[in-house]
Order: sequence, then C-alpha cells, then structure tokens
Amino acid sequence: MKIIDIKTFLMQAGSPPNSGAWAANFDTIATGWRNWLFVKIYTDEGITGIGECSGWPRVIETAVADLKSILIGEDPRHIERLWQKMQVAIMGHGMSGVVGAGAMTGIDMALWDIKGKALNTPVWNLLGGKLRDKVRIYAHASTPEVALQLKAEGVTAIKAGGLKDPVRMLEGLRAAIGDEMDLMVDLHGPPWLTTADAIALGRRLEPLGLMFMEDPVAPEQTDAYARIRDAVAIPLAAGERLATIWGLRPLIERDLVDVVQPDTGRAGGITQMKKIAAMAEAHGIMFAPHSGSLGPVAEYAALHLLAAIPNALMLERVEIDWAGRSEVITPVPRTVDGFITVPDAPGLGVDIDEAVVAKYPSARNVGLGKGDYAAGTADEYVYVQSRLGRRRWLAGE
Ligand SMILES: [Mg+2]
Repeated sequence: MKIIDIKTFLMQAGSPPNSGAWAANFDTIATGWRNWLFVKIYTDEGITGIGECSGWPRVIETAVADLKSILIGEDPRHIERLWQKMQVAIMGHGMSGVVGAGAMTGIDMALWDIKGKALNTPVWNLLGGKLRDKVRIYAHASTPEVALQLKAEGVTAIKAGGLKDPVRMLEGLRAAIGDEMDLMVDLHGPPWLTTADAIALGRRLEPLGLMFMEDPVAPEQTDAYARIRDAVAIPLAAGERLATIWGLRPLIERDLVDVVQPDTGRAGGITQMKKIAAMAEAHGIMFAPHSGSLGPVAEYAALHLLAAIPNALMLERVEIDWAGRSEVITPVPRTVDGFITVPDAPGLGVDIDEAVVAKYPSARNVGLGKGDYAAGTADEYVYVQSRLGRRRWLAGE
C-alpha cells in the first residue's frame, strides 16, 4: 500500500455558548475564532484515512502541505517509521512545538485510521483492546443554571474556567450541584498569574473538594508547579499546551501533576498519546485529554485511546457546543448519562462531510479581545494588574 495524496480541509467553527472566557464573547461564526483542520490521506488501494490537527490550524495547514512531499509513495502501515521521518524533517525548524506536532498529529491519526480500515478493525483494537465500552465525559459550566441543566442531562462532572471571581463562582456551583457531581477548575495558566496568587486561590478552593485544579500557572513554570503542589491540597492537572513525550516529560517525571491533559489534536498523534499515557501510568498519573478548541474527529481518536488505556480518567467535552459540530461528521457521538459509547467501526469509524466543511471557510484564528486574557481588560498582560484585583478574585461568599 502506498500514500498517493494528502489533502487538508480547514473550516471556521462556531463558538459554543457556554465555553467560558476563550469564546464567551463571540457567539457567531463571523466573530468567533475557532478553526478546525482535517487531514485526509489517500492510498493506491482506495482506502482513505481521516485525522485532525489543532494547535493553530491555519498555520498547520501549510505545515501539512510541506510534510506531504516526504510522505507520498510511503507505505502508510509503517506509522512509527513515518512519525520519526516527520520528526526529523521538522527538526531544522526547531521542532516547532504544538504547531509541528499538530501537523504530525493529523497525519498520524489518519495513518491509524487507514491501518484499522485495512485490517477491518477499530483503532482501539490496534492499541491493545478495550478496557471499557464507554468513556466518561466532563462538561463546562460557569453558572448554576448551566450546571443544573447538564446534571439533568446525566453529566456527572463539570469544570469552570477563568479568573473572574473564581471563588464565588465555584462556591455557587458546588452549592447548586451538591456533592454527587465532580467539580473542577481551570485557571488557564495566564502568564500574569503569579505562583503566590495561584497558591492563595488554591487554598481558598480547598474546602470545595475539587477533583483537580488545572493549569494553576503557565505550563513552562515547572518549579512553580512543585511549589503549588506542596502548598495546596487539591490534585493538579496540566499539559494541554505541551506536545510529545518530551514536552510532557517534566510534568510526569517530577510527579508535578495528578492528571495529565495532552490535546488529542496536537500532542503528536495517537502514536505519542499512547506513549504519554504509559509514562503517566508508571507515575500513577491519570489521563484526561484536553478538548475545547478541538473538533469532532480528534474527539473520536480520544475515545479509541481512552478505551484502551488503564489510567483513563475522563474526556473533556464542550457539551453545549456549536450546532455545526454534528453536521460536520458522521456518525455523531452522543453523551448518554455522562458517557459516550466507544465506536466499533473499522479505523476511527468517522468521516467528515466535505461539503459542510466548505460551507464555513476559515476567516480568523486568533481572539480579538474582550476575553479574560485579552488585551484591553483589567487583567491585561502586566503582572501587577492582577495583583491589584487580588482581593476581589480571592473573595468568597
Ligand atoms: Mg484547560
């Protein structure tokens, strides 16, 4: 079998209405900034594979086009070999972080899809078989109303994000949902959030019994993670902005987190995700892939992986999403009582509707402002500004 062509499909995705600061102010496609990038690999035997890349999709589209030249004519079944070939090819660009890894991710995912289809078996079977038939999800909520709606739908865990009055917001959520649902917080690790403030905030949140506190500071601050871990009695989670086994290694190797959260669309593909999960397993660290910017194909890849690894915690899901998500792919995975059934069709078991993708051309891929972390807000990039608001955002009921 040989690779004969690789094509990309880039689209503008609408913003979910309850997704928090990263998109809450952009509720139409025209002003939103989420892009989804899909990759299709074509073979001389008529089998095609589908993959998805997050990590700055508009830039990654060009990276995939560059990598295509070294993949045409190759046998798509030798996934590890092709992964290593791509890695060496982008070495001269400095490895390129999640952008380079994002490009390799979509290609790698499509190769696993091809292998599964060629062998007429689901990807989870190639990964060692199933430990579970359904995967638990968690959704996003920042108000008691949304949390209770999700609870009524059967969702069993919710996460609130952002630093707008976080103590009051989380106390309100816990009071609304009671103790039967899991509750998490994502501080999004903005560069201006100091370690001292993250510790102060964590201590205020300790009584709420959170399942984890995510990205308390920027992921590069590994020593800060060690300080926060020693000072705050809440499990820590991180990893969505990092890629490959080498990017995630410091968090895992130094036991700085309890939950590792690589993004299925940009961490280096199923090939890398499986290895990252194994590294985490050796440290007793749970695995909960990041979503958010992620589209529906990468979500499928996450379901196959979470079915096959022992330390699967949960899948993040933007549960109240843009309606277009269900137009773009077939079949559409549904959350039932807080779980998604693991797909059983050969390969990943999903494909995109190219005509639907073409209906939503990419217009923008960075936020324009108004969010918590954007220029022009009270918490703008200057560190001292967050400290002026410290008393405000540390306040509770
Ligand atoms: Mg996050």
